[in-house]
Amino acid sequence: MDKERKLIIAGNWKMNKTAAEGAELAGQIKLDLGDLTEVDVVICPTFTALDAVAKAIEESMVRLGAQDMSPSDYGAHTGEICSGMLREFGVRHVILGHSERRQYQKESDTLINQKTKAALAAAIKPIVCVGELLEHREAGETEAVVGKQLAGSLEGLSPEQMCETVIAYEPVWAIGTGLTATPAQAQEVHAFIRGQLALQHDDTIAKRIRIQYGGSVKPDNARELMSQPDVDGALVGGASLDAHNFVGIIKNTLT
Ligand code: PEP
Repeated sequence: MDKERKLIIAGNWKMNKTAAEGAELAGQIKLDLGDLTEVDVVICPTFTALDAVAKAIEESMVRLGAQDMSPSDYGAHTGEICSGMLREFGVRHVILGHSERRQYQKESDTLINQKTKAALAAAIKPIVCVGELLEHREAGETEAVVGKQLAGSLEGLSPEQMCETVIAYEPVWAIGTGLTATPAQAQEVHAFIRGQLALQHDDTIAKRIRIQYGGSVKPDNARELMSQPDVDGALVGGASLDAHNFVGIIKNTLT
């Protein structure tokens, strides 16, 4: 597939897999991908599986990611994990502001912005998630909601920091539901996001930023979604828990 930006496909394992199971899955993904380098591949296990997964993907192109991070540094923050702790395991990416955290942990755009800045300061590339609920879409509020999340989560980032940041557009109604945005629906919002980035920065910066789509991506819909001009990869939940499906998604974008 001929793309303006290199695709980045990340697996979000959520609260699944023990360390041993994670190592096994990561090892299988590494084996099945072989020496593929055309796509940036990231896997994001739970904190407790980071060490085992890091070892399983040694000497491969697969990058390690985390699913969240504290905005604070070492200190009195019970239960939190900071950037330095993630760096210790070789974490290079971190998912921030996933809709499950926005919903269940009540994360605000302000908190996500603080986490994004903390990640960038530690040279960890943030994957910042935005996306509307079904009720927003039905009320014609998708752009208003996504625009507000984008502005709040990315406030104050320099052009250089923006280029290190990946945005994941994940319509909440498509996450884990089997409902996928049509390629046209995804492209429409991705183009809107790129337009907002151009307004906040400029066209050159906006064209460099990668925007992933997330929401029930599977091997059989990956190619069509990622062939859209402004769709630069995928954030994959359920299908990333199976090496055959996850690698299938990646390989189906190559042809
Ligand atoms: C996700 O949680 O980021 C996600 C996209 O999940 P799924 O692929 O299962 O819809």
